[in-house]
Amino acid sequence: MALQSGLGGQLSIDLGALARNWRALDKVSAGALTAAVVKADAYGTGITMAAKALFAAGARFFFVATPDEGLAVRAAVPEAHIFVLDGLYPGAANLYVRQNLMPVISSMAMLEEWLAKCLERNEAYPSAFHFDTGMNRLGFRLNEASAVRQRIEALGYAPQMVMSHLACADMPNHEKNRTQLALFGSVMTQFPGVPASLANSAGLMTGRDYHFQMVRPGIALYGGRAVTGRKNPMAPVVTLHVPILQVKEARTGETVGYGAGYSLSRDSRLAIIGHGYADGFFRSLSASNARPGGKVAIRGVVCPVIGRVSMDLTIVDITELGSDLPTPGEGAEVLGNLVSADDQADAAGTIGYEILTALKGRYNRNYVGDGHLPPD
Ligand SMILES: *Cc1c(COP(=O)(O)O)cnc(C)c1O
Repeated sequence: MALQSGLGGQLSIDLGALARNWRALDKVSAGALTAAVVKADAYGTGITMAAKALFAAGARFFFVATPDEGLAVRAAVPEAHIFVLDGLYPGAANLYVRQNLMPVISSMAMLEEWLAKCLERNEAYPSAFHFDTGMNRLGFRLNEASAVRQRIEALGYAPQMVMSHLACADMPNHEKNRTQLALFGSVMTQFPGVPASLANSAGLMTGRDYHFQMVRPGIALYGGRAVTGRKNPMAPVVTLHVPILQVKEARTGETVGYGAGYSLSRDSRLAIIGHGYADGFFRSLSASNARPGGKVAIRGVVCPVIGRVSMDLTIVDITELGSDLPTPGEGAEVLGNLVSADDQADAAGTIGYEILTALKGRYNRNYVGDGHLPPD
């Protein structure tokens, strides 16, 4: 996606790093198949290019949230095995069959609709079954497992996979992980011989007990931090540089931005960057005198956002740069090696996932490299 003028912010996505991250995770989960979760436009990186690169790196199984995302992966990678995490949308069975999308079935109603399609066409179309082991999100309840088993046994149908999802995998010592693991084990006994999948990125990093036959990393592929309180081992994938529009001097006591919530305690030099909350730079990255905000790297120095982030503009205190002044048109790093998505997330009171999936619109998207790695 490019802006018509080519001017403005540059979002760069390193497909080589994406591929290396997939391969690194595939090594960690050596006994299991390593799928790739590419929902939400591949966590903001672009589903078409990401899916192609991940396939080139070796991924064969892809998870999306919605049918439309499934269609995007199908178009990008005709050979992909695609699971739709939202399940079967009512009335959509023909589309799933035609596009060879596998619904992750999470209710009796979904199951019946899928089985009806199988019976109508006399074909055992593949699907996965999702059991809820403790999130109260999508999934069959555990006490439905035997009814599900009886229903499919009567028809001679078997799913490709049974799966569940961890609520607290980002906190590996949380006792809920062990509880869910045990409950998932009880589900698996109802479906002997059916491959199982429990782990997202954090679950994959937590240990082999969680791997089963398939792991489903998302955030770690894109360089994000999966486990809290640990050094993130993944390579950064996303870099965003936005233009500096103006550099100016301001005096002690003057205020900065909407609401005048930040006043300068020293004579300062400011850079105004062409990037705001409409670009995915959250307003919660604003800084008042009482509370620090986001960070932006200019000339290799990490500088603080000051005042409120506005729709199209953000004010950065570059006094620390001294006489090494940036010039208008020069790029400021909003995401990259100096300021990670997780750094911005910590400042905004959110998680890297939300920072990445909020990337959009008003910059050019460039892809670096592809998923082809030298064999190892
Ligand atoms: C999003 C999602 C994943 C991937 O999670 P990450 O934390 O990004 O690795 C895996 N499984 C399910 C069911 C999901 O919804």
